[in-house]
Amino acid sequence: MQTIICSHCDLVSQKPILAPGYVAKCARCERILYKNKAVNANKLFALSITALLICIPAFSSPLISIHLLGVTEEANLLQGAIMMIDIAPLVSFVVLFCAVVAPTLLTVCIAFSSGCVVFNKRPSLLNSVLKLTAILFHWSMLEVYLVSFMVAVFKLISYADVYFNSGLYFFVALLILNMTMLCEYSNTKYWEYLRNE
Ligand SMILES: [Zn+2]
Repeated sequence: MQTIICSHCDLVSQKPILAPGYVAKCARCERILYKNKAVNANKLFALSITALLICIPAFSSPLISIHLLGVTEEANLLQGAIMMIDIAPLVSFVVLFCAVVAPTLLTVCIAFSSGCVVFNKRPSLLNSVLKLTAILFHWSMLEVYLVSFMVAVFKLISYADVYFNSGLYFFVALLILNMTMLCEYSNTKYWEYLRNE
């Protein structure tokens, strides 16, 4: 019989045998211990490759144009974060990490692990990729960036003419792909695959 450790309170229990779609809860803290989620690796592989392609225009195309006093300025996500390096280096680092580096790395990790399942490979690197995926899961915050970006845009509207550009549509598409991927993904199932269970 396999054991499982609750990630919230460290209680060690026997791993339950669950029907697909069912959830086991911890006997002590009653938080979710284990989900028997059906994972479609083909779908995740396709979603992650599409997300990686959309990352390029989402991060490099202008999100908005600002027209003020006869001058029009465009800004994309990377420019916005880099421009803040001198004024607020910590904020700039957090924006770059949570809105660019973490989501991109997470997508690469999911593409790699899903590709391994699709092509039935178990490289030694998969172990580290699955560990990294679990860490990055908490740091990918595209939705937080979008909400704060929209708040800033609505404040700017009072002072200047603001126009939405193609980068914003790519960014929203990337966000939808990213959220779908995270809902579909199960780190536990991929570990089971790696251990050949
Ligand atoms: Zn617990």
